[in-house]
Amino acid sequence: MTVPFLQIRNIHKTYGNVVAVKDVTLDIAKGEFITFLGPSGSGKSSTLYALAGLQEPTSGDILLHGRTLLDTPSHKRNIGMVFQRYTLFPHLSVGENVAFPLRVRRRPKAEIQETVRRVLKLVRLEGFEDRMPAKMSGGQQQRVALARALAYDPPVLLMDEPLSALDKKLREEIQLEIRRIHRETGVTILYVTHDQDEALRLSDRIAVFSKGVIDQVGTGAELYANPASRFVAEFIGDSDFLKGRVEAIDGRHADIRIAGDVVVQSVPVHGDPAHGGEVSVMLRPEHISLSQVPSAEGSLPVTVIDITFLGNNTHVLTETSSHEKLSVRLPFGHAAVNDLQRGQAAWVSWDSSMATAFCG
Ligand code: ADP
Repeated sequence: MTVPFLQIRNIHKTYGNVVAVKDVTLDIAKGEFITFLGPSGSGKSSTLYALAGLQEPTSGDILLHGRTLLDTPSHKRNIGMVFQRYTLFPHLSVGENVAFPLRVRRRPKAEIQETVRRVLKLVRLEGFEDRMPAKMSGGQQQRVALARALAYDPPVLLMDEPLSALDKKLREEIQLEIRRIHRETGVTILYVTHDQDEALRLSDRIAVFSKGVIDQVGTGAELYANPASRFVAEFIGDSDFLKGRVEAIDGRHADIRIAGDVVVQSVPVHGDPAHGGEVSVMLRPEHISLSQVPSAEGSLPVTVIDITFLGNNTHVLTETSSHEKLSVRLPFGHAAVNDLQRGQAAWVSWDSSMATAFCG
């Protein structure tokens, strides 16, 4: 069996009484772009810092090419790092900043010059060698930090919220650049963010962190289509939850009674559904159809609460007879939006394979 490129094995991290990371295990393939996504305080950075050698894990191991990294001090791990704050040396020019890790490694002068030129070209900052960091925008400074991290050809690049200090437009521009640089260099990237959009745009796979554990790992499409927990369902994409009761079970599917008396058939269920047990049924606004007349069998009567035009789509907020809110997103020009009024009755329906139920 081939050894995985990078292995995070049962990492625990505590700070005094605070358990920051609980038994995190993950294999990462060479050249993969993997993102740690989760809310603030969920243990993403603590896991990344254990890899970087900036903090010792309390227990567990990290292996690169099957060999532990933990007995190698941080500066000898050869792992590239880019952080949220600009970490350039302010008294050094761009060229000197990028050359710094190569000087520390005592590379020959000609090689340093050639590498500085090459990595500045890679981040599209050719000709900026003599510029001082203070004379550059935030986005440009992060490009220099990226060039410096890539200068010594690290096998792994760690990025901790590198774009969070930038405005949205610049962030999206640099996201595209990071994708291109990942493609061109083939470097393995571990990226930390709390922003689901950013995770979806950048990553081959996303590990969703919650309270110090990884709830689920998968491609963005897998997490969206088949969330393993309510937390993941809420974190990736938009979703609403309706309370329901299990009427019949068939393996991992159940017929579920919601909003009083509508039974939805054959909904995929996570957890251990029991006959008569309570579940939450997750629905995504873009998977719901809305009609102003009773339509498909099993459609759910609702009241329209609010209608918001959002350019390429219209958001219709509805309420079920049991006073649960349900959002519907209809594409621009959809006939169901014509003459729709606040306060009117409407009917919603969906393909039951697009719903997911969670026990408890
Ligand atoms: P994230 O990166 O997801 O925001 P962190 O790994 O930074 O999460 O933090 C996880 C938990 O550990 C939080 O409860 C945080 O307050 C705590 N924590 C992180 N760093 C320290 C530290 N140096 N000392 C004490 N507690 C810390």
